[in-house]
Amino acid sequence: MKKYASLAIISILFVSLLAACSSSEEAAAEDEESAQQPIIVQGPMPIEAEKFAERLEDVQEEKSGSFVFYKGTVNDYPVIVAKTGKGMENTAAATAIAIEKYDPAAIINQGTSGGHDPNLHVYDIVLGERTTNIGSLKTGSREDGEGIAPKEWIPMDLMASEGSAGEDPDAENIRYFEADEELLAAAQAVKDVHEKGKVVEGTIGSADVWNNEVDRIQWFHEKYGTSVEEMEGAAGAQIAKAYDVPFLGIRILSNNKVNGGEYDPNTAEANQAYVYEVVKEYITTQTGE
Ligand code: SAH
Repeated sequence: MKKYASLAIISILFVSLLAACSSSEEAAAEDEESAQQPIIVQGPMPIEAEKFAERLEDVQEEKSGSFVFYKGTVNDYPVIVAKTGKGMENTAAATAIAIEKYDPAAIINQGTSGGHDPNLHVYDIVLGERTTNIGSLKTGSREDGEGIAPKEWIPMDLMASEGSAGEDPDAENIRYFEADEELLAAAQAVKDVHEKGKVVEGTIGSADVWNNEVDRIQWFHEKYGTSVEEMEGAAGAQIAKAYDVPFLGIRILSNNKVNGGEYDPNTAEANQAYVYEVVKEYITTQTGE
């Protein structure tokens, strides 16, 4: 009798242990879903962000300063579109705020750009294997009345050391921010969906400058290897790196002064259509679904 009683107790314990296990597994799965880190897609101008935001499900709009965050989902995975505003400062601030507020898994900075490479045409897309700040420069030393000589300017790496960038010879280098490999692989996997132009890997140069001097553009192309220029990528890349968040710049050419490519604002929408496919591909690789 005693033996049966203890057997019964053991089986009850076993069954309740199983129940406890499965309910904690369910809870863990729920936690995982709510703890999924979002993918952030940045766009500077309304035409570069809002078309993507329209593609999100269950969108909620949040503002922080002048920055607008459209929080939603793509295939049930959290995606936040950030309308950052133009330029390096806006982008750096919007990136830091997004990282602090939303703890993203990855950041894609996308939008329009101007071509530096004569082989690239309006509607071609550059995947930023590297992104670099082309406004971070040190001039040569010239006295009163000696004029200015922009071709003698040298790159200045503000991240080389904590000391004076003006004095430190280690700072006289080009700083490249490398693309995250998984983001780049996701973008490469869907190249074919973009039919209005080609998709190539390249170097994105950023500064709060619009260069219209072809000789100057060629100087950057030769010295920095830039494929395109824009005003945001390197700022986003620098802040993403400061927090170790995977980052990729994806830029469509809206103009190319080097080969006469006229500005076409409709390129912004075409880029968002491509980046949407990149995001879906990345989600698949992250969730295995
Ligand atoms: N056509 C508008 C352009 C807006 S300002 C005007 O003239 O007012 C520039 C924005 O477009 C920035 O967000 C920048 O990232 C992008 N851009 C496109 N082509 C560029 C180029 N050739 N040089 C610099 N930025 C460019």
